[in-house]
Order: sequence, then structure tokens, then C-alpha cells
Amino acid sequence: MHEEISKLEAIARRLEPDANERGRLQSQVTAYAEAYLESIDDAPARDARPDGGRALYDSPIGEEGIDIQEALALLHENVDTVGLNPPSGRYLGYIPGGGVYHAALGDYLAAITNRYAGVYYGNPGAVRMENMLLRWMAGEIGYPKDAAGHLASGGSMANLTAIVTARDAHGIVGDAIPRAVVYLTEHAHHSIKKALHIAGVDQAIHRTVPVDERYRMDATALDAAIARDRKAGLQPWLIVAAAGTTNTGSVDPLADIRQIATAHGVWMHVDGAYGAFFALCPEGREVLRGMGESDSIIMDPHKTLFLPYGAGAVLVRNRRDLFASYDVEADYMQDARGSYEEVSPADISPELSRHFRGLRMWLPLKLVGVRPFRAALSEKIQLARYFHQEIQRIDGFETGPHPDLSVVVYRYRPSRGDADEFNRRLTQRLQDEGRIFVSSTRIEGQFVLRLAISCFRTHLADIDETLDVLARTAREIAG
Ligand SMILES: *Cc1c(COP(=O)(O)O)cnc(C)c1O
Repeated sequence: MHEEISKLEAIARRLEPDANERGRLQSQVTAYAEAYLESIDDAPARDARPDGGRALYDSPIGEEGIDIQEALALLHENVDTVGLNPPSGRYLGYIPGGGVYHAALGDYLAAITNRYAGVYYGNPGAVRMENMLLRWMAGEIGYPKDAAGHLASGGSMANLTAIVTARDAHGIVGDAIPRAVVYLTEHAHHSIKKALHIAGVDQAIHRTVPVDERYRMDATALDAAIARDRKAGLQPWLIVAAAGTTNTGSVDPLADIRQIATAHGVWMHVDGAYGAFFALCPEGREVLRGMGESDSIIMDPHKTLFLPYGAGAVLVRNRRDLFASYDVEADYMQDARGSYEEVSPADISPELSRHFRGLRMWLPLKLVGVRPFRAALSEKIQLARYFHQEIQRIDGFETGPHPDLSVVVYRYRPSRGDADEFNRRLTQRLQDEGRIFVSSTRIEGQFVLRLAISCFRTHLADIDETLDVLARTAREIAG
């Protein structure tokens, strides 16, 4: 038996590289990362090859390992030069992501030490770190200190967490579901619909509240709709307000919505996945007034705190509501229970074992401080205002409303032919070239282009180049 176990041990030990081998692997990985970072200013924002990544299949997962060089070559050719390049400063589509370097070092350390961040008993420090970050976020957006929440994998999971909490807090079960009413606008993010579906409240009435000329929820119409529904014997349950819609970056009138929600006893949820972090800068704070008074809110550090993908956050004003939805006991967890001064993420979220997400957020904030984040967010808002002003100066372009945050909608109005068709071709041409990446949407039935400025690497020169490329490409298509 000993002999057999020793044989297995000899093979299993390949999972534990020694210091020499670690050094070799580490230096190759670092060199790869450095080459990527050094080339990012020139790299395209998109690679349009439709068969990108296919060669991965030529190197199947096998019994024996391959060398790090070979693995990195596969990664380079099949992943890191394929599709969209979100860390590029010229990536201006959808909602750009982040990827600050210091966060990568946090992830590296989190993976090496693999601290258990789900329950306080598992690692009091890791849990304190996460809760400290949540309290910091709460302070920045005007939430009370005793609000609770956790770091999720992203905004969709955070929205789901909040909507389940709102469902339970208002007893939306069984017969109550088809009488319950959810109020949102046509610009609500599709993760809200997904969350309502997963939460089992699909059958609730979805009331699409009209928007004003800047695509913000019409508070008067909301008030009237709730009053009508109440009179009709329905149960107005949930208002989903946007602190920055994905489509246009518009911020709903949050302070007015709060008053309406309070008057009617309706849960107010704010989807701030894209926009809530703009509260860190003066331009944003002004627009987002009222956000801190909501019953629940989500915000995405992997969007506007510039972290790599895999970081969302949810905060719920009354922590008892979160416990009511997520605190579940199990016999095998009995050692980990106890009354501690800190909330354990596992007791207020759908997750148990999870990535130690706090470290990737704590390390950048500690190493560079908050000031550069505030400056970067102000810069993005001002770049959006600049683009909005400058694109109108280029013959043929027209814009949507003055941006609330950092999304600008615009389109080219051709002197003849179909405008939708023209703008579709313009978008396609830009996306195929890939030097800059912009995406499109439909507003009031019209095909329009969007510029979303939220990558930390996007600066004035990138916006100037984007303006030039747009002017040139539109001219070429117009002939
Ligand atoms: C991105 C986004 C979401 C979804 O967040 P993910 O992190 O992509 O899951 C939800 N709401 C809004 C307004 C968003 O912009």
C-alpha cells in the first residue's frame, strides 16, 4: 500500500512546483503581461476574425502538461488578440470594463493564499476587508452605515440578489404575484427582466413608465400609474430606477422617485451598475442626488471603479431584509456559526464559497488612493461632454441630449437615403476596422450610435482620434 501511495504522490506533486519552477513560470507570465501592457496603446479595440480562438481545439486537455511558453502562445493567438479588447482606451462600446493593474496583483495574491471569504469564522480579516469596502461604498453614495451588502460577481447577480430581497420583504408569493406591479422604463437593463424571471415573479405586472425627452423616468407618470394600480386593487411593489441607463447613461429623477415610493409604500431599487460610482466625483454626485435614499442599490466595480470583470456590489438599506432572504442554516456549518460583530457574506447572499473579491478592490484603493479614481470619473464625464459638443461640429452628425454621465448617443443624418441604413453601415465599418470600438442601439425606433466612456485608459487623445475616424468614415460612406 505504501508503495502505491508513494507512486501516486510522485505524480500528484507536480501540482506543487518548487521555488525554481515557480520563478520560471512567474517570469514568463510577467513577460507576457508586460508585452500586452506595452502594446495596448497601439492594439486594436477589436479583432473581427469570426473564427477566432478555434485553434484551442487543436490542443485538447490531455493527460500530460505542456510548457508555459506553448500555453502562453495559445492564449495570445486564440484569446488575447481575438474579439473585443475592453482594456483599450479606444474601446467605447457597450459599457467599457476596467482592469487596473493593482487589482491583478490582488487577484494573484488572493489565488495564492486562497483565503476563505464566505464566512467570518473562515477568515475574519477577509470578511472585515469586504465589509469595510462596502461601508466605504455606502458612505460615498449616501447609504446608512448599518446597511448591509456584499461583493457579487457582477451587476446581474447583484440585481438578482436585491430583487429577491424586495420580493420577500413585500411578501410577493403565490396569489400575490399576478397582482404585484413592477415599475420600470423601456431603458431598464435586461438583467432586471432576467432577475424577475429567476426570482419566480415573471407573472407580476410590468408597467413601462414613460420617459422624458432625456430618457429619464417621468416621475409624474409613475405617481399616476401607482395611484391607478392601487385603486384597481393591485399591489404596487417595486420601482426599478436607473442611476445611469446602459442605453443613454440617463439618470432617473431619483429624489422624486424616492418621495413617490415612500408615499405609496413601494420598494425602490436603484440599478447603478454603470453609474453609481460617479458619486465619487462632483459632476456625478449632483446628478445622482437621491440615490442614497433607495431601499436597495447595485453598483459594478468592474465598470466604473475600473476593476477587472467579476466584481459587482449590492447594498440593502435594512440589513434584516437581506438576512430574511438568505440566512439559511445547515448542520455541517455549525462550527462556523456564532454571533460575530461582522456580517458574513454567506448569510446575506446566494453564494457560499467564493472568490476573495475584496482583495482585488482593496489593493488598488490602498495603493493609489481614492483621488485618482475621482479624477478619472470626472475626466470621463467631461470627455463625454466634450464629445457631445465636438461631434455636432462635424457636418452631418446630430446628437441626443446632453449626457447625464458618460454615454453620448448620436447619429449621422445623410442628405439622401435611409438614415438607419447609413448608421448601420457606419457602425459596421468602424467595428470591422477595429481601431476604435463603438456600439449601437435603437432609441424610439431609430438606429443610433453610442459612445460610452468608462475605460480608465480613455483620455482626450482617444476621443479626438474617435472624432477624426467618425468624420472620415462618414464622409467615405456618404461618397
Ligand atoms: C452592465 C449593467 C448591468 C449588468 O451588470 P453585469 O455586471 O454585466 O452583470 C445591469 N444594469 C446596468 C444599468 C448595466 O449597465
